[in-house]
Amino acid sequence: MATIIDGKAISLQIKDELKERAAALKASGIEIALAVIQVGDNPASCVYVRNKKKGCEYIGIGSLSFELPEETTQEELLALIGELNERADVNGILVQLPLPAHIDEDTVIKAIDPKKDVDGFHPQSVGALCIGQPGFVSCTPAGIIQLLKRSGIEIAGKECVVLGRSNIVGKPMALLLLRENATVTIAHSKTKNLKEVTKRADILIVAVGRPKMVTKDYVKEGAVVIDVGINRDENNKMCGDVDFDDVAPVCSAITPVPGGVGPMTIAMLLNNCIESVNLQR
Ligand code: NDP
Repeated sequence: MATIIDGKAISLQIKDELKERAAALKASGIEIALAVIQVGDNPASCVYVRNKKKGCEYIGIGSLSFELPEETTQEELLALIGELNERADVNGILVQLPLPAHIDEDTVIKAIDPKKDVDGFHPQSVGALCIGQPGFVSCTPAGIIQLLKRSGIEIAGKECVVLGRSNIVGKPMALLLLRENATVTIAHSKTKNLKEVTKRADILIVAVGRPKMVTKDYVKEGAVVIDVGINRDENNKMCGDVDFDDVAPVCSAITPVPGGVGPMTIAMLLNNCIESVNLQR
C-alpha cells in the first residue's frame, strides 16, 4: 500500500518554522504585513481569504483586508493596488481570483509591484523563475516541491510528468521540477497517447480540474502521484483529479484530497510573505 503524503502535517511544520522566522524578524524591528483584496463575495473566495488571514495570524504577521463590492471598477481596483504598492508597511499584495467578469485579471496582476507579488503570478516573477533568478514562486507548485522533499522523495534525475499546463500550476510546476534536475514532460488535452506518456512518470503531478480522471491505467507501478485537483464528486464530496482508491494500491506514495496539496498552498503563501523581506531589501 502506498505511503499517504500528509500535507496537513507538513504544512503545519512549515508554518511553525515561519512563526519562528517572523518572531526573529519582529525582534529585529521588522514587521511584516500582507494585504488581501477580495472583490465581490464568491463563497469559495471568502473561505480562501479567511484561511489566508488565519494563516497570517498563526505565524504572527499582520494582514490588512480590503473587501470591495462586486461593482468595483477596474480603475478603482488598480488605484488601490497602486496605493498598496507605495505603502512601506505592506510587504505582500494578494488579489483573490477569480475577479468579476468586468475586470481583466491580467491587467490587475501586472499592476502589482513584482516585489510584493506574493502569489508569484506577475510576468516578472514567472520570467525570473524561468531563468533561475530570485523572485516569488507560485504557491501551489512551490508547496508540491516541499511535499516531495520533506517526504524524502528524490527529484533529481527522475522522469516527472506534469498533467496540465495552466499558468498558475502546470507551467511553474514543470519549471520548478526542472530546477530540481528532473527530466520533465508536460502533458495536456492535446497530448496523444496520454496514458503512455503518464505511465513513464516516476513522479506524476496531476492538475487537470477533472474529478477522478486519473485511474490506475495512467500510473506506472511504484510511481509517486501528486493530486492538485479540488473538485466535487457526484455526491458533492470533495475529491481530486486522481481516483485515489483505484491508484493508491499501485503507487509508492500519493497525496489525498483533502489534506494533500491544498494546505501547502497557504503555507507557501506565508513563506513568500516572510521571503518578501529579502526581495525588498
Ligand atoms: P486549468 O483549467 O487552468 O488547467 C487545466 C489543464 O488540464 C489544462 O492545461 C488542460 O489542457 C488540461 N486538461 C484538461 N482536461 C484534460 C484531459 N482530459 N486530458 C489532458 N489534459 C487535460 O486548471 P488549474 O491548473 O487552475 O487547476 C487544476 C486543478 O487544480 C483544479 O481542480 C483546481 O481546482 C486545482 N487547484 C488546486 C489548488 C490547490 O491549492 N490545491 C490551487 C490551484 C488549482 P489544455 O491546456 O490543453 O486545455
